Amino acid sequence: MFWRISNGGAKLETKTVQETKAAAGFGAPYIVRTLENGAGHAPILEGMKLPTPNTLTSPIDVWLRNLHEKYRNNMHGHLASYIPELTKADAKHFGIVLAAADGKSYATGDSEVLFTIQSISKPLVYGLALEDHGSEAVLKRVGVEPTGEAFNSIVMDELNNRPFNPMVNAGAIATTALIRGNGFEDRFKRILDMFSRYAGRQLTVDESVFASERATGHRNRAIAYLQLNSGMIEEPVSEHLDLYFRQCAILVSARDLAMMAATLANNGVNPVTHERAIAPEHVKTVLSVMASCGMYDYSGEWVYRVGLPAKSGVGGGIIAVLPGQFGVGTFSPLLDDHGNSHRGIEVCKELSQRFHLHVYDMHFVADNIVRRSYRGGGVTSKRLRGARERKALDSHGHQIIAYELQGGLYFATAEQLVRRIVEDSPQSKYVLLDGRRISRADQSALMLLRDLKLALAHESKVLVLAALPEQVQSDWLKLNSGAGLELCFGDVDAALEYCETKVILTADPGAMAADALLPLADMDILRGFSADEIGKLAPYIQTSSYDAGAFIIREGDAADRLYLLASGSASVDIVLDDAKSRVRLAAFRPGVAFGEFALFDGGRRVANVVAETAAVCYVLDFANLERLEATEPKLYRRVLFALGRLLTDRLRRVTAEVRALT
Ligand code: GLN
Repeated sequence: MFWRISNGGAKLETKTVQETKAAAGFGAPYIVRTLENGAGHAPILEGMKLPTPNTLTSPIDVWLRNLHEKYRNNMHGHLASYIPELTKADAKHFGIVLAAADGKSYATGDSEVLFTIQSISKPLVYGLALEDHGSEAVLKRVGVEPTGEAFNSIVMDELNNRPFNPMVNAGAIATTALIRGNGFEDRFKRILDMFSRYAGRQLTVDESVFASERATGHRNRAIAYLQLNSGMIEEPVSEHLDLYFRQCAILVSARDLAMMAATLANNGVNPVTHERAIAPEHVKTVLSVMASCGMYDYSGEWVYRVGLPAKSGVGGGIIAVLPGQFGVGTFSPLLDDHGNSHRGIEVCKELSQRFHLHVYDMHFVADNIVRRSYRGGGVTSKRLRGARERKALDSHGHQIIAYELQGGLYFATAEQLVRRIVEDSPQSKYVLLDGRRISRADQSALMLLRDLKLALAHESKVLVLAALPEQVQSDWLKLNSGAGLELCFGDVDAALEYCETKVILTADPGAMAADALLPLADMDILRGFSADEIGKLAPYIQTSSYDAGAFIIREGDAADRLYLLASGSASVDIVLDDAKSRVRLAAFRPGVAFGEFALFDGGRRVANVVAETAAVCYVLDFANLERLEATEPKLYRRVLFALGRLLTDRLRRVTAEVRALT
């Protein structure tokens, strides 16, 4: 057995296993790939030409190129000849393009050669008919049942007096007949403009193919007049037919097809131009008929083998769509007996098998939506509170439960979340959803959360949302518009503080009295001091008042005093490197001491402290503290000890919080 080892991809050598082991040693920087394998798994690069050394090529490009190479000389099939002009196609042409739903494309072979779109026009025009009339009205005129017959068969759903589906010619002609507009020119322009939006460039018509089919399309004429005869379509039939022949003669490349498919994968919006080609509500209808009928009488086997909604055309094109992920466009004009591109089908089969693209090949189960959850009290907001507020929060904070969410919210993950919330609910009153790590949320998930919100409200419980991605927040507000006040916070800490305030106000309504000025004795660090000690300390302390919005401490100030907040609220924030945004580091409520680090390390202030409301502070200047040392050494030691306690208390809380969060 041989291994191929490459050193950083620069130089390839072949060695035996024994040599490799000897050469590699422990931790040697070799990448080892198997070329032969006994286990029967095809290694990714088996039989493939490796890219030029020193240029990193995406393995997807390499893989597509090799796939192209594998089928390049496969000349099975025949050119479509019933439209005379199509026999002029070059049988050798062969292109494959893969386009991600974000617009990135990978092309190989004849990806830019133009050919006529033919039947791939059918699902696109069907989408336009859906937009023109709505799906129920269209369904009355064109069914959605596969025929199991060839694309040009003359079979009708007689029970419902309509063609079976829009992907066979009979249904496609009836669909085209539904396209609104003011005469032929206007109706065709609407079709061409729509196709151009799908492709992301202005498309044109192959006049000779159009003329050729128009002159020889007797079978399609017969189908149309039969339908007129049974009232399935109305006049002007020859205009409908011209429109149909012309839509089939629109010129596209494999790249255009891939972009069209990617547009369907991207919910109807061209991912490169960001132009909408089809209303989002019709995308799933179009993809459904593609999945059941897109490959004519090969549709069943196609779903079985490839498993992607797709459409082929006798010009040699195929589009296939993996919703939400990407689109494929292939071009090879040699057709099999069903009228589908032979090489195109082989390529799609291999793509689907190699990358597990079959829509029913679900390898993922629902992600774990709750990253972690914690109760209030144990974990608190950055608001440091005085003893009385803290006491209320310590004993009632568990009524707050926060869930840190991650990943996408869709039905299965929203169900998981709702289940957790219901299980945890007996103790909870404030349910806080932290949306910082949410990637997206679909409508079904948001509807479920809205129902949960109403159910919670019914139990006097509150759903609070924080830091949702912009799109999710706007979808949520739209869904809830008119349904009362929404508790949506931009910031998780602010949301948590909101819940804490509510809990404190219910547990101890007096604790947060707006204009109460706490006496010096009620400052946290001075609790336990006797009245006599407080009396001795008072002359060393000044009282300062601040208006709402005023700076209590400015970044850069000399750090030479300690503050005790006696009333109001204050917060510390720093300006981030980008000089635009600020982060709140901490915030204070009456009773709390701040600025204490300065006592130990001096220097300059590194952040601003701002009065959020009108505030009063007791200020202990360090020069006064020194005087206290000289005159009242015992009291001085008490103060220092109290400051030490303050710091250890805070450290202990932070440690407990870190523990609660891991
Ligand atoms: N214009 C062609 C026809 O009506 C389209 C058929 C096809 O691509 N399968 O015959």
